[in-house]
Amino acid sequence: MADHALELFDGDVGRVLAIVAHPDDLEYGAAAAVARWTDAGNEVVYLLATRGEAGIDGVPPERSGPLRVAEQQRSAAVVGVDVVEFLDHPDGLLVYGPPLRRDLAAAIRRHRPDTVVTINHREDWGQPGALNSADHRALGAALLDAAADAGNRWIFAGVGGEPHSTRRVIVAGSPRSRHALDVSGYVDRAVASLAEHSTYLEGLGDHPMADPEFLRWILEGTGARVGRDAAVACELYEFG
Ligand SMILES: [Zn+2]
Repeated sequence: MADHALELFDGDVGRVLAIVAHPDDLEYGAAAAVARWTDAGNEVVYLLATRGEAGIDGVPPERSGPLRVAEQQRSAAVVGVDVVEFLDHPDGLLVYGPPLRRDLAAAIRRHRPDTVVTINHREDWGQPGALNSADHRALGAALLDAAADAGNRWIFAGVGGEPHSTRRVIVAGSPRSRHALDVSGYVDRAVASLAEHSTYLEGLGDHPMADPEFLRWILEGTGARVGRDAAVACELYEFG
């Protein structure tokens, strides 16, 4: 990750809607912040564009989809999230465009969040050659646009309910992060939340990210940059 100075963000996130492409996306960091928010009484809902059915090489989609939904529900529960919704777009084939924007705008109107949370939508992860996935790029671009669409009554008119303007979008793990969320004291729960994706993690084999303890190293490393025990780097979009 590029080594920019990070500023701690400690504003009130209010109601939170976390929107990502796949099961496990939130568990590589953002879930630590979710645990902190739900402990503080904030309502957090998860919305996943796919069921992650193409995510495990050795497991065919018809078995993988239900397994990954169950793992996602368990990992959400570890950080205090009871509501997990799925949009059923095809895993690996998310397309930026009006159909995805429409589904995301509808979800924002339905849940009426103050803060939307997602993960890195940039082309890479900040290191040479570390290309971000097509789904992450498509989801993030569509979500940032959908946050605006949701507030415009003439775009996707009537879909999902009345227009709703969210106050901010937080993009966790972006290589263009300029902010950080203090998650000191929440590393153990974040690691436990990631560990619930056991089938997925087993499928990674010898990859370093197959060990959920990998996350501790990331969160503590970011924490060191902002003088905290642990932190999540993020890109912050604040809307008027
Ligand atoms: Zn993903």
